[in-house]
Amino acid sequence: MSIKSVNPVNGKLIKTYSEDSEKVIAKKIKLGARAWEDWQFTDFDLKAALLNKTAEVLRERKKELAALMALEMGKPLKSGLEEVEKCAKVCEYYAANGEKFLKDEPVETEASKSYVCFRPLGIVLAVMPWNFPFWQVFRFLAPGLMAGNCALLKHSSNVTGCALAIEEVLKEAGFPDHVFQTLVISSKRVNQVIENPLVKAVTLTGSTGAGIQVARQAASLLKKTVLELGGSDPYLVLEDADLEYAAEICAQSRLINNGQSCIAAKRFILVRSIEKKFLKIFKEKMSEKKTGDPFAPQTDLGPMARTDLRDELHQQVLDNIQAGAKCLLGGYIPDPKGKHAYYIPTILTGIKKGMPAYTEELFGPVALVFSAKNTADAIRIANDSSFGLGAAVFSKDIASGEKIAEGLLNAGSCFVNTLVKSDPRLPFGGINQSGYGRELGLFGIREFVNIKTVYVR
Ligand code: NDP
Repeated sequence: MSIKSVNPVNGKLIKTYSEDSEKVIAKKIKLGARAWEDWQFTDFDLKAALLNKTAEVLRERKKELAALMALEMGKPLKSGLEEVEKCAKVCEYYAANGEKFLKDEPVETEASKSYVCFRPLGIVLAVMPWNFPFWQVFRFLAPGLMAGNCALLKHSSNVTGCALAIEEVLKEAGFPDHVFQTLVISSKRVNQVIENPLVKAVTLTGSTGAGIQVARQAASLLKKTVLELGGSDPYLVLEDADLEYAAEICAQSRLINNGQSCIAAKRFILVRSIEKKFLKIFKEKMSEKKTGDPFAPQTDLGPMARTDLRDELHQQVLDNIQAGAKCLLGGYIPDPKGKHAYYIPTILTGIKKGMPAYTEELFGPVALVFSAKNTADAIRIANDSSFGLGAAVFSKDIASGEKIAEGLLNAGSCFVNTLVKSDPRLPFGGINQSGYGRELGLFGIREFVNIKTVYVR
């Protein structure tokens, strides 16, 4: 079997990779386990130095890496450069803080000495998506390596070039052989990797369906999982919000990464009294963004990552229009006969219970507008979802915004007057169908460790 990278700008084949055979997979796992025998006891100072060196290599190669993302999944070059910089930062963050986060914690008991220590688990398998091909991997990898785990990456099939580049970056930074390895495999072979007794845990970022399948398999073998899945983040615009500012942030968040981010704003819940005024500004902001060649410096939006994903999104738009939604902007494929994966920024208004978009995630540049009677109704609609990744609320009353964010919105990250974003210092993850477990911050590094009690009489 072969795995192909295809340019979403024009449908041209970039490269064909041959899939790792069963034998190669088993060999890589064995080599990873052997590498772990030493890696688990490696000093924090050395691990930190290697992560800092990784940050350096990433920065040195950032233009080339951003170009690879533009080519394989259509990310505008300027966003790719920002992504590589963020990867460098997460490496530096865990280099600086990893040891502190995993320091032994003494606990007073009747023993002469009792404490908790955090020991690595072994090989962790990471099943990762194409939308942030570097960031999604480094977000797991930097804390994982600092904790003393080894890692195997099964990346999305359309970004194999990025996956192999990550392996090269770590090699160049001086990581010992096989501490991190890429498996070039399709999703069909993931079960085989999970089944191997040398693989101790799995993390997956991607769709809820893929998460459930991987979690089911891992659970049958009692292997720990962390799942960062889809979302349909609500952005609540309340009566007293600064509408110009809120519209700008909402458009920015909806169109981030060509609309393909788990934490993009997807549902815009507007209090009825400001709806008309907000929509006028929001439509302008959504129209202003420049769609074009991801390599052009002025481009804000490139194509979507694959034509099948774009076609699926367009079908969702058509289904919702048929169910009664109004199309305020976009709603069509530009140059539909072309072999590209572009989609026009779109706004659908009047989303109501019973329409597909009330419950489904739309993973592309499509904004869904909901009308709420008042603040309480906006919160009710926001929470009437099976997802729970992020949420944002816009109001000039900061205290009330904070109260809503802290206690009333059901999501893993709730932001006031700004867009939901990940930050190495803050835990990141969801509830309900958006998954479980946390990445980043102190909580992220403690997901894949044995929280071990040591007791000396
Ligand atoms: P998938 O969830 O299908 O893919 C993500 C990763 O999981 C890829 O590495 C994929 O491999 C792998 N995978 C898929 N199915 C399985 C399975 N049954 N067992 C093991 N591994 C599996 O995402 P898509 O790329 O198909 O995108 C579709 C949808 O996923 C989007 O519309 C969006 O809802 C969601 N998504 C969410 C993301 C997030 O950040 N939360 C990121 C990307 C997508 P392979 O590529 O070989 O199939």
